Amino acid sequence: MPGEFDLIEHYFAHQQPINNHVQLTIGDDCAIVDVPHHQRLVVTTDTMVEGTHFIAGANPAWIAHKALASNLSDIAAMGGRPVWCSLALTLPELNASWLEDFSRAFFSLANHHQVMLIGGDTTKGPLAITMTLHGWIPRNQALTRKGAQIGDYIYVTGELGDSKAGLEVILNRQANDSSLGQTLEKRHYVASPRVNVGILLLDIASAAIDISDGLVADLGHILAQSDVGAEIEANTLPLSNELLAYVAGDRQRAYQYALTSGEEYELCFTVPEHRLDALHRLEASQDVPFTCIGRVTASGVLEVYEHGRVLTEHLNGYDHFGEND
Ligand code: ADP
Ligand code: MG
Repeated sequence: MPGEFDLIEHYFAHQQPINNHVQLTIGDDCAIVDVPHHQRLVVTTDTMVEGTHFIAGANPAWIAHKALASNLSDIAAMGGRPVWCSLALTLPELNASWLEDFSRAFFSLANHHQVMLIGGDTTKGPLAITMTLHGWIPRNQALTRKGAQIGDYIYVTGELGDSKAGLEVILNRQANDSSLGQTLEKRHYVASPRVNVGILLLDIASAAIDISDGLVADLGHILAQSDVGAEIEANTLPLSNELLAYVAGDRQRAYQYALTSGEEYELCFTVPEHRLDALHRLEASQDVPFTCIGRVTASGVLEVYEHGRVLTEHLNGYDHFGEND
């Protein structure tokens, strides 16, 4: 697009080298990187399109945060250490203040995780952001969706359900000016990917996934790939005070949110009994809570109970704006 070189130079090319395995960064036809001998690359890509993943006029800082956070969360779910990324931006126009806010928020999160931006592409068109993130994992180690065993304990990080409540606030413009509405709206966009936890779970968890489509859908992927089932107890689901306020104390409704809310970017993982002590030591060293929500079973299906009673309603995963993507 016109002015592309100036734009890249001004907003994206000025950063400190924070990874000395990057031999050549933005400015040539390709970047050149080294991978340490004892590591492997884990690679992920996510796209966000205006009108599908965020509404027109959404805060550019939040869009940037979410685009990188969703990729960081995928690397975290594998136990990888994120290292560098590329950014393909499709912009309807050159809007200096939008780019300023976008790039500042992007580098703030990238620097926090020691991720270098090593290249990308810039084109004109309807607003869309595609990011590819690379991470390292030690050779012969990775957290995958396969590996959960009957009897393993099922854990989640953080709290669940706020992202879906935030999306409702955004779409319905409900209570948008209340501080509760604003808090939930921000939670929908600005998650904290559990990168350190993922790395430290490599020796502890038997399987892991990040919650991007909803707990039921994502845990379902672990169960399908591991060829097992699970029982979870709704009463143990970690709910925020904000979510409970949003549903006016209706716990049944809060469970639905926690079970189906997508784009949470929390981790769901399974832990064998003999690694529970190690897990508790890890939890004590982190500032995010871990909650045991159930056990892996031989049944081949996911059963959700509330105080021993089966809960089956409203267990669909997350749909972007009501459509499966
Ligand atoms: P080419 O035509 O060879 O694809 P470009 O003009 O698209 O080169 O890009 C020039 C340089 O700027 C490349 O190093 C590319 O990786 C980088 N780049 C382009 N767009 C972005 C962006 N949005 N963010 C970061 N780097 C970018
Ligand atoms: Mg290009």
